Amino acid sequence: MALIVHKYGGTSMGSTERIRNVAKRVAKWARAGHQMVVVPSAMSGETNRLLALAKELAPAKATDSYSRELDMLAATGEQASSALLAIALQAEGLESVSYAGWQVPIRTNSAYTKARIESIEDTKVRADLDAGRVVIVTGFQGLDELGNITTLGRGGSDTSAVAVSAAMKADECLIYTDVDGVYTTDPRVVPDARRLKTVSFEEMLEMASMGSKVLQIRSVEFAGKYKVKLRVLSSFTPWDIDINEEAASGTLITFEEDEHMEQAIVSGIAFSRDEAKISVLGVPDKPGIAYQILGAVADANIEVDVIIQNISKDGRTDFSFTVNRGDYAKTIDLLKEEVLPKLGALEVAGDAKICKVSIVGIGMRSHVGVASKMFRVLSEEGINIQMISTSEIKTSVVIDEKYMELAVRALHKAFELEQAPA
Ligand code: ADP
Ligand code: ASP
Ligand code: MG
Repeated sequence: MALIVHKYGGTSMGSTERIRNVAKRVAKWARAGHQMVVVPSAMSGETNRLLALAKELAPAKATDSYSRELDMLAATGEQASSALLAIALQAEGLESVSYAGWQVPIRTNSAYTKARIESIEDTKVRADLDAGRVVIVTGFQGLDELGNITTLGRGGSDTSAVAVSAAMKADECLIYTDVDGVYTTDPRVVPDARRLKTVSFEEMLEMASMGSKVLQIRSVEFAGKYKVKLRVLSSFTPWDIDINEEAASGTLITFEEDEHMEQAIVSGIAFSRDEAKISVLGVPDKPGIAYQILGAVADANIEVDVIIQNISKDGRTDFSFTVNRGDYAKTIDLLKEEVLPKLGALEVAGDAKICKVSIVGIGMRSHVGVASKMFRVLSEEGINIQMISTSEIKTSVVIDEKYMELAVRALHKAFELEQAPA
């Protein structure tokens, strides 16, 4: 008997018919003798629907002032889907109980709309498991120390599932989604993308942080920190397929490099439209600039990614960085109102119509010329690179958003990531 955590995404929970299928699948696992904890997302479209209602009532710029209420609102999506799943399981003849994050409780910090999990109390869940119940725990949400409901950022149910797995010391965490594993790139953009049987933890971390939304970045971080055995697989296979076949399907995230069978130089291509570029122009070139600019941005809880500082001319320099597109307006306002006057810089400029495309692979460590091949491929397509950032196992470029799909397809082909022809 093992303790298994299943996570089902929004599409997998998208209708009562699909919820019934999830219940049948979970029942199959429970009847095979496993203790089961299930973490569902809200039914597809529900989180967007709820957040759009809030937008109808308040101007977008005021988000900070009502972020507590956004979390109260958005958390209801998972509460509903969890209760529905518990009902469906009971209808299948299994004892089952659902808990909202605050009931477990899953404790988080107070960063509304992007809270981080700090700890999970497992007593209640364990008692239910020991009593033979399937336990459903809402994805995406928790409770801060003042008793407020928080949410974990879009796609956060992955993180809930992995964190619950870590806290419960589960034998395995299975992330069921609408594709049958992790691909060399998003199969919706490149139809002949190839499914990876395994992907190393480090590569998955880079792919997730560079925009592959198949797993939320924090879920991968948790898996790495607590060595959670993690697999991504399809919820659209027939629910009654052989359990061993199902358990070996999809993509396994591996922790040891020699487990990594597909030693390609580049394993995958990630991309993100969710980016914006900001430049502070004419900054006096003296010590402390980066701190003054980025310190203020960090204090506002805004994450910064690619950073570039140009060489100075006549004692002044330009300083550029990227932020999440959702933080674009807020960052520009902050810089104009608070940082520019203090810094004596000339201007703040920005571009929200950019994207980031990254090639990722642990094989890049031992191969030179991978980045230059990427630059050559983009230049052959006539795509201008605005910013570059590299790590040991990835190279990212910031380009005009309109070239994103062209860039991804060209790179996927150039690095020979396609499926072998049938
Ligand atoms: P869920 O609702 O199950 O959490 P998501 O929509 O969050 O599902 O994530 C699954 C989606 O991630 C897929 O439908 C696919 O379009 C996208 N995706 C992006 N990059 C990849 C990749 N490298 N491999 C597989 N899917 C990817
Ligand atoms: N329902 C949340 C979202 O749409 C969390 C999740 O699906 O993982 O972002
Ligand atoms: Mg998701």
